[in-house]
Amino acid sequence: MRALVTGGAGFIASHVSDKLLEEGHEVAVVDNLVTGRRENLPAGARFHEVDVRDAKLAEVFETERPDIVFHHAAQMDVRKSVADPRYDADVNLLGTLNLLECCRTHDTRKVVYAGTGGAMFGEAAYLPVDEKHPVLPISPYGVSKHTVEHYLHAYRVNFGLDFTVLRYPNVYGPRQDPHGEAGVVAIFSLQLLDGETPRIFGDGSKTRDYCYVGDIVEANMLAVERGSGGLFNIGRGIEVSDRQVFEAVRDAVGVDTEPEYAPTRPGEVEHIALDATLARETLGWEWRVDLAEGVGRAVDFYRERRKRD
Ligand code: NAD
Repeated sequence: MRALVTGGAGFIASHVSDKLLEEGHEVAVVDNLVTGRRENLPAGARFHEVDVRDAKLAEVFETERPDIVFHHAAQMDVRKSVADPRYDADVNLLGTLNLLECCRTHDTRKVVYAGTGGAMFGEAAYLPVDEKHPVLPISPYGVSKHTVEHYLHAYRVNFGLDFTVLRYPNVYGPRQDPHGEAGVVAIFSLQLLDGETPRIFGDGSKTRDYCYVGDIVEANMLAVERGSGGLFNIGRGIEVSDRQVFEAVRDAVGVDTEPEYAPTRPGEVEHIALDATLARETLGWEWRVDLAEGVGRAVDFYRERRKRD
């Protein structure tokens, strides 16, 4: 299979690329390196330093002729989307439309899309949130990521381009940079390893659904052959508070630092956890790595990187 991975120099999609290569597929990566790093790129993948909004994307499709696209390139910072919604829409909507047009005109079979379950439902009416829950995003990022789901549906109906949407929770693990929607494990790890005092926004009781990146990669692999036209919440369904995640990182680092507390920031929901029953039944997906184990692996990674740098 020929796979094109957008955002493959970033956190999640570099792991997806690694796995695809491991399974013997041909992999090409498109990334403009705005947040991604060259060092994340797998050695076996062909790299195209191209912006998904650029007309040059068609040349990449001409060369690579992908059977399947894993679309992860995005403006993925919730706060940035609040500050600059036009940039968010430019990358997440117009960039995605440019990509879908390329898929349509180059006989791509399927798009696996990195959606967000954490930022599209708004403040939840019940938890964990399933796919029937009303969609009321409170950040422009949540709006743009959700809107792509509608475009995917329209392209499938009109042009037969298949898709599967995986609505991620807060993903964490090695290679995550301390920015964006869910970088808190990375932020706390780096600060605690540097002997700094992490800051928690709010009183520490905000909750999120944390899922280890390896489990997210598995969902992508399952979506290659399953979940046609489906929208799936991916997550553990467990609420983890900011305070709990801080303590998990602190345990893994092995210090007894206390955090500082600061006012909450706009665009962020108070509580979210995702019910992945549909993903289990349809894709056969289940999470495997618990918080302590996953945070331990992430902290090991940051510790090694600090030694090396
Ligand atoms: P990331 O920032 O590490 O990766 C995104 C990649 O996209 C980066 O390498 C960046 O350089 C690239 N990119 C950005 N704009 C681009 C453009 N215009 N053209 C080409 N490349 C561009 O982020 P991540 O955490 O790996 O997120 C990957 C995807 O998963 C995103 O679509 C994000 O919305 C989604 N997601 C992530 C989380 C999470 O917890 N990290 C949660 C929900 C959804």
